[in-house]
Amino acid sequence: NPVTREQRDEAIAHFKYEGTLVKDCPYGSGHINDTFLLIFEIAEMGRIKVILQRMNSAAFPKPVEVMENITGVTSFLKKKIIENGGDPERETLNVIPAVDGKPYYIDSTGDYWRSYKFITDASTYDLVEKPEQFYESAVAFGNFQSLLSDYPAETLHETIEKFHDTRNRFALFKKAVEEDVMGRAASVEKEIRFVLEREEIANCFAEMLDRHELPLRVTHNDTKLNNVMLDDKTGKGICVIDLDTVMPGLAMNDFGDSIRFGASTALEDETDLTKVSCSMELFELYTKGFLKGCDGKLTSKEIELMPMGAKTMTFECGMRFLTDYLQGDKYFRIHREGHNLDRCRTQFKLVEDMEQKWYTMNEIVKKYSNN
Ligand code: ADP
Ligand code: MG
Ligand code: MG
Repeated sequence: NPVTREQRDEAIAHFKYEGTLVKDCPYGSGHINDTFLLIFEIAEMGRIKVILQRMNSAAFPKPVEVMENITGVTSFLKKKIIENGGDPERETLNVIPAVDGKPYYIDSTGDYWRSYKFITDASTYDLVEKPEQFYESAVAFGNFQSLLSDYPAETLHETIEKFHDTRNRFALFKKAVEEDVMGRAASVEKEIRFVLEREEIANCFAEMLDRHELPLRVTHNDTKLNNVMLDDKTGKGICVIDLDTVMPGLAMNDFGDSIRFGASTALEDETDLTKVSCSMELFELYTKGFLKGCDGKLTSKEIELMPMGAKTMTFECGMRFLTDYLQGDKYFRIHREGHNLDRCRTQFKLVEDMEQKWYTMNEIVKKYSNN
């Protein structure tokens, strides 16, 4: 349901803003929240921009926990950035509290709102226009890992339960095959076999976690290019935004999901599978940027497992598309018949391609691992 004028006015009146509102309009191209830009005129100070968002309650049923994660992480980042001599107004999100001091406002319809200082002289990009932008996003997400490497990740809420618990996703997949509620399993035997033959991918990180071999990290979980602000002058990635999905997780999974999406040579739903591959040039570029940003804060085991992160996230994503196809397309919105099956096939094609390029991927990671 779209945001009404009354709702917006009510929200605006309940945050700690200074000055007179002179502009107020929808902003950006995010798909999850409803984002608005507000401009205030303050005597002798000029114009101040702020971001106001209605949070998506369908995607995030626990908004209070989401905001607890965000305030925890951003206040920690702010301290770190100041210690490092950076600009805390531009290098992290800054939550503007509501009038009652809370980091959110609940309007009379029950919707949750939050507000951030506007990050000036920087932009987000929906598509990679030049490879440097992909590289800069890698540096920014790596730097996010580095700055938060001593944050107590276990204190964060798991706002989406078992989000990247690939072993659990595998179990849910098997259940979907057994139940076969749509009678579709027989027609996708090949894809089902592809998953079943690769159970060890689903178990790998889970077993290492069971053995306490991997540190729990603060992960972003939506590491797309348009969630990084790039400086308008220098093109550098200055700030990671969109922290709704911040959760405890594995560094390799954040890295891996970026590769899954960003290093693919085709769209996620391409039907001509000959076009789908994992570009080693893009893989190298992202690896180089990510490790530079991480600045030595990852363990050697985490670094060594970066290719495994890429394979795991791609396998998991394909398995989720296939599960949804078997269950009647209940989770991912489809725009055509068999859309989730097409999406699953691109992911499995990428997994196969990574299996073939496994040696190269590992050599690339090694090349940048001792910086
Ligand atoms: P969504 O979850 O819907 O993607 P985002 O938090 O990513 O929402 O916000 C949508 C867009 O709004 C971003 O891609 C960015 O362009 C812009 N934006 C969000 N926060 C800020 C901010 N603090 N300063 C400047 N622009 C912002
Ligand atoms: Mg976003
Ligand atoms: Mg988002």
